[in-house]
Amino acid sequence: MGPMNGSAFSLAPVPGPAPAPPAALAGKRVRVETMGCRVNRHDAAQLGAALSAMGCLLAEAGAPFDIYLLNTCTVTHQADAEARRRARRARRRCPRARVVLTGCYAEVSPQALLAMPEVDLVVGNHGKADLAARIGALFEPAVGPAPGPAGRSAGGGSVSGAVTRALPDQGGDTRFFLKVQEGCDVACAFCIIPAARGRGRSMPPDDVVDVLIRAHAAGYREAVLAGIHLGGYGEGLGTHLAALVRRVLDETPMPRIRFGSIEPWGLSDAFVELFAAHERLLPFLHVPLQSGSASVLKRMRRPCTPEFYRRRVGRIVAAKPGLTLGADVLTGFPGETAAEFAEGLEFIESLPFSQLHVFPYSRRAGTPAADLPDPVDEAVKRDRVRRLIALSDARRRAALAAQVGTVSHVLVEARGRGHTHNNHPIRLLADPPPPRGRVVAVMVTGVDGDDLLGALAAP
Ligand code: SF4
Repeated sequence: MGPMNGSAFSLAPVPGPAPAPPAALAGKRVRVETMGCRVNRHDAAQLGAALSAMGCLLAEAGAPFDIYLLNTCTVTHQADAEARRRARRARRRCPRARVVLTGCYAEVSPQALLAMPEVDLVVGNHGKADLAARIGALFEPAVGPAPGPAGRSAGGGSVSGAVTRALPDQGGDTRFFLKVQEGCDVACAFCIIPAARGRGRSMPPDDVVDVLIRAHAAGYREAVLAGIHLGGYGEGLGTHLAALVRRVLDETPMPRIRFGSIEPWGLSDAFVELFAAHERLLPFLHVPLQSGSASVLKRMRRPCTPEFYRRRVGRIVAAKPGLTLGADVLTGFPGETAAEFAEGLEFIESLPFSQLHVFPYSRRAGTPAADLPDPVDEAVKRDRVRRLIALSDARRRAALAAQVGTVSHVLVEARGRGHTHNNHPIRLLADPPPPRGRVVAVMVTGVDGDDLLGALAAP
């Protein structure tokens, strides 16, 4: 077990006996839902596993439940509204259930959620390690608070302890998703993540290697290494992402490794060299851009210029044939003029993106950008989003068409679906389809909507 940096890494797998489960949870039906990013999904799967280990039964969608647990997101106001809507709906569906909210919205605005009469317990990201025990306390009036307004509480707490003591639960995924980094120290002006998830911290490399060896032994053939700011992996541990990847390549048998999104300044020369040299590192990268205008990037307080981005990404595209490149783009940031938008669009058009995740800027209280003047008119923002999505759609169609006639190795997921090695969704034309979790060679034969179609090829 290596050292921890700053506060402990909250989801590190720690061997050892599990804490005694609160007896009150035995047999309780819990419905776990999640919103937002893949990291949140992973956290929710772990919370479900922890509750399950305490004797809870996981309820399917539509089934009655005794506990409703929602892992919230706060990336936009729409996400906040959706979380409140889901909490109200849960209360209507099962009036006697305990309604518990956790995640980023719960971390950033606990008072807003506590004000809702439908909500019994609010626990921020920093309290997730103890969440299952806190839920148990809701059912033990002699020990903890009763449900309802008098018993409602917000929880932060220290980032310590382990949610799981086994392999992180994958929520049924065929890929093994491993969060190796949490939090962020960068403080981009629009971003609530440093407030919602705290400072950067990383899973020690020894633990990453150990977990991946065990994941491979359990049958996983593809791992995704992810983090909130993955490029910041290892800060405070005296290491960095490329060193971790080197160890994963040398010390684990995992045949396919993908990466969650990496900020452009996280694409170090050492990482690019490794990424280019090893086929086990699959050719897909998502590198957030946010804006292609130098002045907007500066107001966003991103430690990056468009030219820096072009250099970093250009190097990696040249070094990794067949790479699929994606990016986040945020438009309508306060003060974004027509000229700045046009400059940004031109920059984006000049780069070989296959897909864009486009977001309209939404003011978040508690972020440095919240007080900036010159908000962009909503109709103008919608139009800019529409133009960026049109560009993304055209690029995605072209990228899919370019795959036809190529052979890819595909990890088979549910119902004969999968993703090519460079991360395009594909449907296998095989009846019956190969078993889930197997890697098969596939000839791409065509395109159907947003999917590729493929037939099994000789390995
Ligand atoms: S680097 Fe990413 S997570 Fe960190 S503040 Fe910027 S946008 Fe948010």
